Amino acid sequence: MVRAMRVGRIEREGRTSWAALEDGTARLFDRSPFEGGTPSGEAVSFVAGDLRAPVAPSKIVCVGRNYAAHAKELGNEVPKEPLLFFKLPSSVLGPGGTVLLPPESERVEHEAELAVVLGARLRRASADEARSAIYGYTCACDVTARDLQKKDGQWSRAKGWDTFCPIGPWVETVLDVADVRVRCLVDGETRQDGRTSQMMFDVPTLLAYASQSFTFEPGDVFLTGTPEGVSPLAAGQRLSVIIDGIGELSVRVEAERPR
Ligand code: ZN
Repeated sequence: MVRAMRVGRIEREGRTSWAALEDGTARLFDRSPFEGGTPSGEAVSFVAGDLRAPVAPSKIVCVGRNYAAHAKELGNEVPKEPLLFFKLPSSVLGPGGTVLLPPESERVEHEAELAVVLGARLRRASADEARSAIYGYTCACDVTARDLQKKDGQWSRAKGWDTFCPIGPWVETVLDVADVRVRCLVDGETRQDGRTSQMMFDVPTLLAYASQSFTFEPGDVFLTGTPEGVSPLAAGQRLSVIIDGIGELSVRVEAERPR
């Protein structure tokens, strides 16, 4: 049984540490929470700018078209089984980071999503086993180069580009995610506003399904799909994902300068 905590990573004097976060105080873990660490170390103060991505996954498994209204807005059918794809660990971007719009794409869109963080190894699991392997939840944006997704015929570049997985600001270890509000704001304007109760497949079902194919390791991440309202991003914007009960993930958007 996991106790209720906000678990994040902070960087101080060039060193990154796992920590339990509370009101500007970070209690440091003795080692990674995904290697059995506990917040038994010193307590230090931190500010939002010290936060880094609260995960370091070996894999990021995602589901597409898991909200009917979003499948429809892109002209797609709702799949009969979960439609899985990946984002790369190298696409992870921490809070306060910058999504870089690549010159190869003319249409990069936001997809606000609830992210699930695994706390235990999972393989060929039942939904109940999957539920008890969850470490916690955080906010993520499945940034997608929509034109490349169509052009390539599969989604590796469109979804896996560097900086295309903003995630954070921390992992909330205890949260009932059956019906929480998931929002995406761009420059403070609401672009997506959905609820996890609108998912076609719930979190334990998704994890169990994916675990038939892939072994989840502690610290791995699962992105649960996006509600309707996806729209293009532009350089200079501020992108936020807000999930009730977790908090706000905020990043900047800039054009990647060709070198
Ligand atoms: Zn997505």
